[in-house]
Amino acid sequence: MVFSYYNKLSAAQKRIYQKSDAIHEVPLPDITALHPFIPRLASALEHEDRDQAEEICRTLALGLTSRLKVPPLRLKVLAVRPAAGWGELHGLYELAEGRASAVISLWMRTAKHRRVVAFRSFLRTLLHEICHHLDYHLYNLPDSYHTEGFYKRESSLFHQLVPEDTDEGRR
Ligand SMILES: [Zn+2]
Repeated sequence: MVFSYYNKLSAAQKRIYQKSDAIHEVPLPDITALHPFIPRLASALEHEDRDQAEEICRTLALGLTSRLKVPPLRLKVLAVRPAAGWGELHGLYELAEGRASAVISLWMRTAKHRRVVAFRSFLRTLLHEICHHLDYHLYNLPDSYHTEGFYKRESSLFHQLVPEDTDEGRR
């Protein structure tokens, strides 16, 4: 299955899309060392502790980039999600381009109700943005598309970090 925007891509872009779509898993060595940070992240969000959430996200991001031997990232956890007519921004990945490293921004609170984001969706957003980083630096793709393969890689990372979570549908 390809997403509908595929038909509007150039031949070169379609080749990038197909490469992205063909990779379904991101095997992580020594993943159990990162498991203790998962409940800590859930607790930091529950206590609305931005500093701690940021520190744990940095540890997780470094844990993933070092295991996958890709350049490290800068990471910021911010307060309320930016919102406009198009919706709310959950996370943002910015390429290094002139900076020392690529930057991921994550938001802790929804724009609408200013509620703290649910743990699973927060972690998924972190992994989603890291997947953009992997597209450029692990798979050497010139662009990073949201393909079915991309979302499978995001899920692959999620299930390695949260192996006991089989009930994704809730919340
Ligand atoms: Zn994205």
